[in-house]
Amino acid sequence: MRNLLDHVDDFLRAASEARHVGLLTDFDGTLVPAESRPDQAQLPDRTRDLLRDLARHPRITVAVISGRALDDLRVRIGIERIWYVGNHGYEIASPDGKVERLFDPEELEVLRVLEEELRRETAGIPGVLFEPKGPILALHVRGVPSEELPRVESIFQSAVEQHRRRLMVDRGPGVFEARLRGSSNKGASVRRIHGTLPSGTLTVYAGDDRTDQDAFRAVRGRGISVAVVPASELADYAAAAPAEWIGVLERLREILQARPAGPRPARPRKRRE
Ligand SMILES: [Mg+2]
Repeated sequence: MRNLLDHVDDFLRAASEARHVGLLTDFDGTLVPAESRPDQAQLPDRTRDLLRDLARHPRITVAVISGRALDDLRVRIGIERIWYVGNHGYEIASPDGKVERLFDPEELEVLRVLEEELRRETAGIPGVLFEPKGPILALHVRGVPSEELPRVESIFQSAVEQHRRRLMVDRGPGVFEARLRGSSNKGASVRRIHGTLPSGTLTVYAGDDRTDQDAFRAVRGRGISVAVVPASELADYAAAAPAEWIGVLERLREILQARPAGPRPARPRKRRE
């Protein structure tokens, strides 16, 4: 895997010369630094303007793909006419605003039961934060004292184990998740969105955690993947922080805005002396 900044010209050339670009990106830890409380993550106005400008370009399609619930994600990003994928792929809103939910609402009851059990068993442990997100129940543990973590994990594991036919466990940085069993993941969402774009589209995906690995795999042969720290051997490039990824997107905007939009960018003409 190469360092994105060391090879930024290659990246920018590929993205600015492609017939069409699917610009797919994770949110937490990728567009904004990961926060200890999920409700603290805010998209800066200049990043919002950047995404909006890119999305308006006729050769760019933007998608934000996240583990957050779809409605939460849409409010935080606040741009119209882009793709939004929530809950790691269980909820998809296309640019025309049509929403698809890839789970059976009747299955949600098992997650409500699980949350009640977990709340009872973790009562008194400081820093435990529940976030019911529909088809996924997240238990945030960034605020839990480290000596209590093994206990929280074992409570979580054994509670989910009782519902293992319908639920599976996932783990991200600072979070345990119980999710409905199904085939939705970020990789399936990448393939789905890529499939709606013009043939020859270069799909770019950037993400920072374990759930993004499925997306890195899905991008192979279709485009370019960028792991925003921590690095992943599945990704083509590594970026050191969200600010670095944003900086590269700003340069892409600059290049695209300096050129007329069209299927093929004109080569700069030699000036006659
Ligand atoms: Mg992330």
